Amino acid sequence: MGVGTPADLVECVALGVDMFDCVMPTRHARNGSLFTRDGHIAIKNARFKDDPGPIDNSCSCPVCKTYSRAYLRHLFMANEILSSVLNTMHNLHFYLDTMQRIRQFIEFHRYDELLADVRRRRSPAVEE
Ligand SMILES: [Zn+2]
Repeated sequence: MGVGTPADLVECVALGVDMFDCVMPTRHARNGSLFTRDGHIAIKNARFKDDPGPIDNSCSCPVCKTYSRAYLRHLFMANEILSSVLNTMHNLHFYLDTMQRIRQFIEFHRYDELLADVRRRRSPAVEE
């Protein structure tokens, strides 16, 4: 289907879409593009060379709980297969977490808040 980024999922659910299938989380992971609440980051970027933080501070996945951006960048730059594995684990977790958040906001009749937050974070001023 080709839809899409986590922000796209939030937008599409607002339009009534309730089924998604896309290679984006795994393909992006293999290419070192990792999703965060503020958009995606390219882990190969030199600014992550010594970054001790997780991919996303709000992510509860095992990768974010265990590995730093610097280590993940090292794996990616060294062309280690573990890079694809860990990056894929994070991106898939991030997508599943996004869908869980969507369900919670719908359940509590607060979907407009989620939509506004995603649109604010999507603005060019905060994209990486
Ligand atoms: Zn994570």
